[in-house]
Amino acid sequence: MPARTGAQFLEQLKDGREIWLNGERVEDVTKHPAFSGTAQSLAQLYDLQYEFPDVMLMESPDTGDLVGVTHLIPKSREDLDRIYRAIKLWAEQSGGLLGRSPDYLNVTFACFASRPDVWGRRGNERGAENIVQYQKFIREEDLCLTHCIINPQVDRSAPEAAQGAGEVSLHKVGETQDSIIVSGARMLATLAPFADEVAVYPGSSLRPEDSRYALAFAIPMNTPGLKFICRDSFSKARNVFDYPLSSRFDEMDAVAIFDRVEIPKDRVFLDGDTVSYNEVITDTNWRSYIVFQAMTRALTKLEFAFGLGHAIADTTGVNAYDHVQEKLGEIWSMVELTRSALVSAKAGAFEVPGTQGVYCPDERPLVALRATMPKWMGRAVELLKLVGGGGYMLTPSYQDMQGPMRSYIDRFYQAKNTGAERRIRLFRLAWDFLGSDLGGRNDLYEKFYLSDSFRMTALNYLLADKSQGQRLVDRFLAEPVSVESLEPIS
Ligand SMILES: Cc1cc2nc3c(=O)[nH]c(=O)nc-3n(C[C@H](O)[C@H](O)[C@H](O)COP(=O)(O)OP(=O)(O)OC[C@H]3O[C@@H](n4cnc5c(N)ncnc54)[C@H](O)[C@@H]3O)c2cc1C
Repeated sequence: MPARTGAQFLEQLKDGREIWLNGERVEDVTKHPAFSGTAQSLAQLYDLQYEFPDVMLMESPDTGDLVGVTHLIPKSREDLDRIYRAIKLWAEQSGGLLGRSPDYLNVTFACFASRPDVWGRRGNERGAENIVQYQKFIREEDLCLTHCIINPQVDRSAPEAAQGAGEVSLHKVGETQDSIIVSGARMLATLAPFADEVAVYPGSSLRPEDSRYALAFAIPMNTPGLKFICRDSFSKARNVFDYPLSSRFDEMDAVAIFDRVEIPKDRVFLDGDTVSYNEVITDTNWRSYIVFQAMTRALTKLEFAFGLGHAIADTTGVNAYDHVQEKLGEIWSMVELTRSALVSAKAGAFEVPGTQGVYCPDERPLVALRATMPKWMGRAVELLKLVGGGGYMLTPSYQDMQGPMRSYIDRFYQAKNTGAERRIRLFRLAWDFLGSDLGGRNDLYEKFYLSDSFRMTALNYLLADKSQGQRLVDRFLAEPVSVESLEPIS
């Protein structure tokens, strides 16, 4: 089947999935006020594939149909560039706010399917074949996936088996001839209400004795026994004038609960092998691919933040001051360093040994950026606050704009270079970026969506090639120090 349109995407969401919000089961996410805005935004991403087919679509290697470019298993730097452009075009539709747009898992599964040799280790040939077939399936059907790779927070200092008597973390509870049966929960599944399928794969390490937790699989969202409990909606269900971002880009985060869910064996990628569970993420180079996707989106978000800062400073005239210029220059520097790291990751891409010409971006600039980005995102928000000052509170609502105070608003909310309405829309947009419920959630997202940045930064130290620094230090330490060279005491 060729790439889907937005209408096809929306139609397939009406599948009886179990989504819970505020104590109620949501019957139809495309109609529910908490979800319909984001459902429409995602539908627009699917439609965009046909508006920009040269960027977004490619010929399927199996069927010849036009399918999404982000499913491509890269075989050259040019392929990486194609993938980059498709990710970027989608990211620009939300200013980088949709962290889990479908390309996130398209890129993930293209990476996984490129390494059946890794998945197939220790006799898991069937799991490896399943993941190769599954990647083709989601590419041909143009499916949207959510994923949940982390077990719930009960006691982070204890292993999975010790959390809530071993019953909380997702685990295997049985097996039939054709399926395995799983129970437990995973936090969090962003985009769950809007996804067609949920994927489970390793997100942390397991002890050898915890094999029942060593699972990787993917199933449809409407699989019996699968339930999702959402956090509060931040969409506000208000006019886009009031919340231009929350009303459209609340991608929602939900806890996934598996109550004796049957996973068909042709959808199981790993079952019980703790060694593979601890190896596949590293050995498939997933980190390189996913950070390449994530930093392309982050670049867009920083560009958006810079655009907001510039527009605000220009609107109120504060960009005449050098310390405001310095703050905006700081955001611009983040943009440029992010862009440069992506260029560097592409330039340093290499053919992965032992594969049929699969290309992998250079991990070093990407993981360096990954460690830094959560700090930059938080800093960009702080800088925007300092540039905009109390202007974020000069933000009457759509209802105010329609009401009897409008003539006062037009007079007292004007700005240096624009009228009241445009100024208010700009500041409301920026506030939705940095100060609304969604703004707060997005700050948390940037800090934790790929594990926490503290441990990622520590990991960079452990992974770092220390030889060059060590060599420079050793040159001095190897120098003989003679007693004569010391100054005599006089
Ligand atoms: C908005 C949002 C959306 C997300 N979406 C998804 C999703 O769709 N799919 C998905 O799989 N994941 C998702 N995640 C990521 C995931 O759910 C976790 O947030 C992430 O793995 C970090 O774990 P945690 O939140 O339990 O934090 P914790 O691991 O509990 O960390 C809390 C603090 O304790 C410290 N800490 C914890 N353990 C250790 C340790 N062993 N050593 C040292 N310090 C430690 C951390 O550094 C941190 O400061 C999302 C996260 C957020 C915030």
